[in-house]
Amino acid sequence: MSPTVFEPFKVKVVEPLALTERPQRERWLADAGWNLFGLHADTVTFDLLTDSGTTAMSSGQWSAMMRGDESYAGSRSFFRFESVVKELTGFRHVIPTHQGRAAERILFALTVLEGDVVPSNNHFDTTRANIEHDGGKALDLVADVAHDPRAEHPFKGDIDLEKLRACLEAHRGRVPLAMMTVTNNAGGGQPVSLENLRCVSALCKEYEVPFLLDACRFAENAWFIKQREPGQKRRSVKEIAQEMFLLADGCTFSGKKDGMVNMGGFLALDDDALAERARNLLILTEGFPTYGGCAARDLEALAVGITEALDERYLEYRTASVRYLADGLEAVGVPTMRPPGGHAVYVDAQALLPHVPAREFPGQALACELYLHGGIRSCEIGSVMFGREAPDGTFTGPDLELVRLALPRRVYTQSHVDRMIELAGEVADRADSLRGLRMTHDPKVLRHFTARFEPLEVVAPTPALV
Ligand SMILES: *Cc1c(COP(=O)(O)O)cnc(C)c1O
Repeated sequence: MSPTVFEPFKVKVVEPLALTERPQRERWLADAGWNLFGLHADTVTFDLLTDSGTTAMSSGQWSAMMRGDESYAGSRSFFRFESVVKELTGFRHVIPTHQGRAAERILFALTVLEGDVVPSNNHFDTTRANIEHDGGKALDLVADVAHDPRAEHPFKGDIDLEKLRACLEAHRGRVPLAMMTVTNNAGGGQPVSLENLRCVSALCKEYEVPFLLDACRFAENAWFIKQREPGQKRRSVKEIAQEMFLLADGCTFSGKKDGMVNMGGFLALDDDALAERARNLLILTEGFPTYGGCAARDLEALAVGITEALDERYLEYRTASVRYLADGLEAVGVPTMRPPGGHAVYVDAQALLPHVPAREFPGQALACELYLHGGIRSCEIGSVMFGREAPDGTFTGPDLELVRLALPRRVYTQSHVDRMIELAGEVADRADSLRGLRMTHDPKVLRHFTARFEPLEVVAPTPALV
């Protein structure tokens, strides 16, 4: 038996968990319109809504924050942050933003025109929304194997290179840039291989299209490359990450993931002219280029966080804890997307609730029951997030109905995860009694954040928790 992988840190500060009863949770969920984003966090015991901005920072980060230099212009914290990012990515221009979507908004406002096409493996929801906001079309060209939740493929985040070539050919002159999301969040947190990134980079060069990484989880992706890709075992994760960035012309980055901070991000670019335009736009809405949307102390924490995310003991623990949750869920009859991703376990809600059709939101129904039964908050990634109802009433859902259990970094312990597995197993035992939902409020953009629902039928009461 291989030795237990343990947390390569100890706990210094603790925060109590909210312990609640089912009748209370029923009331709170109804008040929130059956949308878990509407809950007060105080009503949630295990918050797996997202790994974004929920990281526990290290003593190293907290102490770095104390040396933050809050000068309006030319802050020493900016230069420290910039040098860490430049050393990792090699990009010439580093533009701090308050989070990833601010980098996306600036990038696409400057590059996407009405009718343009932006291909990616899978666009994240804010990326897609920003591209569409500027009149572009966000195309998802992930390889077909990604659509099979049971396929044990090492790099299910890879893009389909034939589809990418066909897209670049068909839309010549209308592709302002191509992107790759590492790891592929909307596609199950699956990694992209170095080989695939090299081919995308070469194709983009051939068609003279800039290639940008959505690099939020670059360290988890680089770890999987080291573990799974032939010929990469002996390289450090940092060297692999550096090559990933070297293959691209720039990146958008949310520091709230592998940046290990609660707020922050950046846009990094090689193109001098585009970077100048981006800084001008930055000043309009984010702030002066040496702080962007951040306090200088945030930049200090991000500089330390990026370095900590590359620690291989940390990455081993991180991916082992996600795998532990996934394997535990499988063992109690909760089908998950295989193999487990880097930051989250994706439960296959369609497989668990085959009797609930896509237009009745099986993922949302399951996510709500996990909350009602166990106080677990998760995130639907299915028909609520990506489904579309046409004016004629026809409904198009995504190919997968998933519920994402995202693990915040360095936050929950193994016994927390053990309890979550027990609770999810109890929900799975009576999955066939769960009913779908009806959407009663359907906002125009990013509807999963604010949509409201009603249950289609009252769920049979369950015995109280012990
Ligand atoms: C979180 C995320 C973003 C957006 O970043 P924010 O900091 O939340 O604005 C973009 N892309 C991916 C893949 C993400 O996971």
